[in-house]
Amino acid sequence: MLRAKYTVGIQDAEDRGSDCWGSGNFGASRGSRTHNGKDVLVPAGSNFFSVSSGDVTKFGYCYRGEGYRYVEITDREGNRVRHFYIKPNISLMIGDRIGMGALIGTSQDLACKYQADECHSEDMPNHVHIEVMSGLDSKVFFDPDEYEFT
Ligand SMILES: [Zn+2]
Repeated sequence: MLRAKYTVGIQDAEDRGSDCWGSGNFGASRGSRTHNGKDVLVPAGSNFFSVSSGDVTKFGYCYRGEGYRYVEITDREGNRVRHFYIKPNISLMIGDRIGMGALIGTSQDLACKYQADECHSEDMPNHVHIEVMSGLDSKVFFDPDEYEFT
């Protein structure tokens, strides 16, 4: 079953599914855009492990001017596997070659950014967002549930 490979990211991580903020499924609506990845529920401060083997190619910022980070691993197909809302492990370096299941960092607290308000009955559940961007076309994303991580 394809899903089994995906859950390497964290043992027993569950799908975010849908909540008052929207759906965490790939392709879900985000207003005029669609959700490029897949969300799994992860408490803030958890160790998080790479869903793919490959080379560490980027420590990015999820939002301009804010401290939320992502860790990008480029797999052997040349596709870019990004783990969002992860504070990178300080011993991880750009260019490191890592295996599937390697520790890449700790999950960050999203609930404090997306708090309950008049439109949302609860804080956004803390989660990690996984997306797989084609190495050939940065506008193309693969469904993590269908992707064969290696
Ligand atoms: Zn997401």
